[in-house]
Amino acid sequence: MKKYIKLASILFFIFIVFYSVNRYRNYSLSLMPKEYKLVKKIFDKFSLNNDLGNRPVSIIIRAGEDMHYLMVDTGICKDKKNICFYFENLDPFKKYRGYRSRDVNYAIKQSYLHGHANASASPTGTILINRSTFRVLEGKENFIAAAIAHEMFHIIQFAPFEASFKALKAWQDNPNKTDESINEVFLNEKQIIEAEADLGGALILLQADYPKDTFIKAMEYFYKQSGIIHTKGQSKRHPDYITRINLIRAFMNDESFHKKKIRDKSSPLTWRYNRRENWLKFYPNQITN
Ligand SMILES: [Zn+2]
Repeated sequence: MKKYIKLASILFFIFIVFYSVNRYRNYSLSLMPKEYKLVKKIFDKFSLNNDLGNRPVSIIIRAGEDMHYLMVDTGICKDKKNICFYFENLDPFKKYRGYRSRDVNYAIKQSYLHGHANASASPTGTILINRSTFRVLEGKENFIAAAIAHEMFHIIQFAPFEASFKALKAWQDNPNKTDESINEVFLNEKQIIEAEADLGGALILLQADYPKDTFIKAMEYFYKQSGIIHTKGQSKRHPDYITRINLIRAFMNDESFHKKKIRDKSSPLTWRYNRRENWLKFYPNQITN
């Protein structure tokens, strides 16, 4: 009998150790991939002299937009109009185990090696970053900070709500307007929101003690790494490169562009990480979690 009790306690002990190690591995901030560690470092710096709002923000590093083309190539994503969002959002730090996993895993690898630097924000309070961003911008931490500052401003804006609201009003004022012209209103308003996020992002960087010209240098580099910048499709969602650079430069040259100490800063941020679900999340100090 004694033997069984001894064996049971050893098994229980092994289980506890295994469970604790597993838990530590899944939630530990110190064991995060280096990309997430860098994102955390940047946000901690922002929070020292910025108000990052009053809701939690999640950051997800994902396989990225190249997955769209790669999945169409493999025939796994059949509809060419479909953006293959499911595959773009796959966890790049983990082996995919679903349908045609060999092809999908190879595509995740290619997306990292060939993909561009890009990030996006959702009004739900989520920032998505292509993993390739960290490869393309290796050693350029300030430029990664610029991309993140722009997206963080979109979170504060609840973008693209304001643009959609103006499009709705235009439609109400004139119900006979075609869908195309309503969409035109929406896209024009969206460009204004994008320009505001550039200026807001530039200010977040300045407030956090980055060199004054960081945002404009980063913007120039983003366009250079994307290669083709003159096509119509490129300039519909954002103002075109020249307009964008001119707006940022005018804003930065204005005398109001200087650092101000703020009282309602968001630091210290409270951080949560989940490796299994692939997200990193912060709570500004203004809210309790
Ligand atoms: Zn944007």
